[in-house]
Amino acid sequence: MREIAILGATGSIGTQALDVIARHAGDFRVTALTAHSNANELFAFVRRFRPRFAGLVREAPIPEDLRFCEWFFGEDANEHVLRAAKPHDALCAVVGIAGLPAVMAALEVCGRVLLANKEALVTGGALVMEEAARRGVPILPVDSEHSAIFQCLQGGQEPRRLILTASGGALRTWSREAIQRATVQDVLRHPTWRMGGKITVDCATMMNKGLEVIEAHYLFGMPEEAISVLVHPQSVVHSLVEFVDGSLLAQLGVADMRVPISYALGYPRRMESGAAPLDLLSCGPLTFEAPDEERFPCLRLAREALRAGPYAMIAMNGANEAAVAAFLENRISFGAIANIVEQILDSTPPERISCVEDVYRMDKGARSRANVKIGRME
Ligand code: NAD
Ligand code: MG
Repeated sequence: MREIAILGATGSIGTQALDVIARHAGDFRVTALTAHSNANELFAFVRRFRPRFAGLVREAPIPEDLRFCEWFFGEDANEHVLRAAKPHDALCAVVGIAGLPAVMAALEVCGRVLLANKEALVTGGALVMEEAARRGVPILPVDSEHSAIFQCLQGGQEPRRLILTASGGALRTWSREAIQRATVQDVLRHPTWRMGGKITVDCATMMNKGLEVIEAHYLFGMPEEAISVLVHPQSVVHSLVEFVDGSLLAQLGVADMRVPISYALGYPRRMESGAAPLDLLSCGPLTFEAPDEERFPCLRLAREALRAGPYAMIAMNGANEAAVAAFLENRISFGAIANIVEQILDSTPPERISCVEDVYRMDKGARSRANVKIGRME
């Protein structure tokens, strides 16, 4: 019986993880669940999975029948829940840099960290990987591309190159001019995956792939120039690894996050995920194309930030989170997202980042400068 905490339990990843766990009730015990503000959804999961601890960032009145559980509220609800529950595994499925303190706390008290929250690595990658190494806590990737690479690396051989695939997002075939004016509705119509709002916008700008290049750099210790990106609109090949002899290994499957989630949950054992098997006769033809950094500049910006160092990645991520939130509230155009990120990245002077407090300070600065620009555009 493995004890597990799910942080961000009501989100796209959180609910799919609970779906997989429910299929293996004898193997897992959910000891903690958290969410930001969707209290009723969290209450339904607490009723069903009966964890000993639960947390909500935004406090809500707790129904009588859920008082068996110990509740924590506020910005640091995730950390409090983890320290109280000390589960063997923590699935970090919070969205944004808000998840970084939870990941750091999970490394302190858990045996393994199952990581979906890519922004934690983009903003605190060096600190997170150092802490994981120091404590000997494995970080198991949940992001589909990184799970694919992790699966391809099980043979233990060093890779020469990592190749991340990208669906290309909702605007892949759009002209440069049309992209600038894409609406929230256009952007949220993702062709292959159903996900939370923030990551779906990131897919449309291709910032998601930029964040994933950084995530791959930290998870697999590969330099930026050894991580390639290929647009593969069918989302069947989830990523590839190239070895010294020229061989490529790939992981294929349907576009269902329960596959990478179950791989992390069960690792090193594979378990039934609920996903349909891939039918090779009906999924093709499989196509690959180079990403277009003219129409989708965010991928280039993320690579620049990775080369510049942690300060630049934090500034880029903070500006992106602020801009994506403003776009989802219809306050700025789609085209403005990349402009804001570029302006903040270009105007942030280098600074040494040596602890998580430095990360939060840098993030706050970039975010507030981005919000000033957003305010001027409204
Ligand atoms: P989502 O918006 O659907 O869900 C986010 C969850 O986090 C919700 O339960 C929300 O209540 C909770 N949350 C937000 N802030 C919180 C906080 N401060 N404390 C506690 N809970 C908080 O997002 P998602 O699509 O599930 O994505 C989660 C993370 O996983 C993101 O970093 C995303 O990039 C990554 N990811 C998602 C997918 C996917 O298929 N959805 C795939 C790969 C990676
Ligand atoms: Mg991904």
